[in-house]
Amino acid sequence: MGAHQGPLGLDDTLLAIIVCPQCHGDLLPVETNPQDPAEGGELACQGDCGLIYPVRDGIPVLLVDEARASGS
Ligand SMILES: [Zn+2]
Repeated sequence: MGAHQGPLGLDDTLLAIIVCPQCHGDLLPVETNPQDPAEGGELACQGDCGLIYPVRDGIPVLLVDEARASGS
């Protein structure tokens, strides 16, 4: 056991330092497939923009172009 793994297989340390590239808000990990967490997840911005960023193969894709809007 090396680095402590957090949600979505992401490193807790990584989660602590990454922020939303749009508004610099905190990012909340969200499992999109609870049956298979390795399948993927998302990072939901808790800041003003509310964008949701994909996580692919355990790598957060913090690109505004790749994000989707929350809600509808
Ligand atoms: Zn944001």
